[in-house]
Amino acid sequence: MSCGSIVDTVKSGKILISDGAWGTFLQKKGLKPGDCPELWCIDRTDDVLAIAKSYIDAGADMIETNSFGGSRLKLEHYGLADRAAELNEAAARISRKAAGDSKWVIASIGPTGKMLLMEDVTEDELYDGFKEQAVALAKGGTNAICIETMSALDEASLAVRAARENTKCEVICTFTFERTVKGEYRTMMGVSPTDAVKTAIEAGAHIIGTNCGNGFERMIDIVKEMREVEPNSPILVHANAGLPKNVNGVDIFPETPEQMAAMVPDIIKAGANIIGGCCGTTPEHIRAIRKAVDSLS
Ligand SMILES: [Zn+2]
Repeated sequence: MSCGSIVDTVKSGKILISDGAWGTFLQKKGLKPGDCPELWCIDRTDDVLAIAKSYIDAGADMIETNSFGGSRLKLEHYGLADRAAELNEAAARISRKAAGDSKWVIASIGPTGKMLLMEDVTEDELYDGFKEQAVALAKGGTNAICIETMSALDEASLAVRAARENTKCEVICTFTFERTVKGEYRTMMGVSPTDAVKTAIEAGAHIIGTNCGNGFERMIDIVKEMREVEPNSPILVHANAGLPKNVNGVDIFPETPEQMAAMVPDIIKAGANIIGGCCGTTPEHIRAIRKAVDSLS
């Protein structure tokens, strides 16, 4: 790859731009509740490629893949467990095609939905599922593995280890937090940003961070806490377009590209190195963030 390492590029002082939402974008293109998003990597290749391309065109330095739910433990739900390797490899190939040789692909791995705590699954089953997914994504040409939307320390740790031990990819690990009534941040499983960072680093993550659940405003607090615990590793933020408002049963993410772009200096000051979007963000949001970052240098 001609684009080199993400960590080295961040350490040279660059702020990098990641992409925006995939899930809400797929829905806009016609994905129905109950459909398997990852199957679109085979059945609706052009639509998936169009999403990836739209973020590259908007100025992203890196793009994710349509593989968030691509662990066999999740695909099982659609009767597609045995196609896990095929779907993940296809997802990486599509994003690689959009990224060309000069942009990074950071392949998405989301939670399995199974909890060790509830004895839904064993450690080996989780590890093997993540391993299969990571290996297929690497085969499809991804540069990095982005383990995201994590809430349980044990699952995140197994995912990071599976990616580190079985691929040569850089490994990113981001958690999703909510603000408690006390004003602290915790994942659904009660994990603080401090403990999330410590666990991710210990498992071998090169890049840490937070995605989904919050807009930039709250991400600033979370990034500050992470930066305090971990002064050296790059921090990635994929923020939602604000907090959702439920309008007639549909979640609307209210922040405009301009509103998000206005918070870019503060999120960088808090310690973020890689900035992109999650739910509700569009190529226009990424374009505005790109512009805001470029105007700082
Ligand atoms: Zn999201």
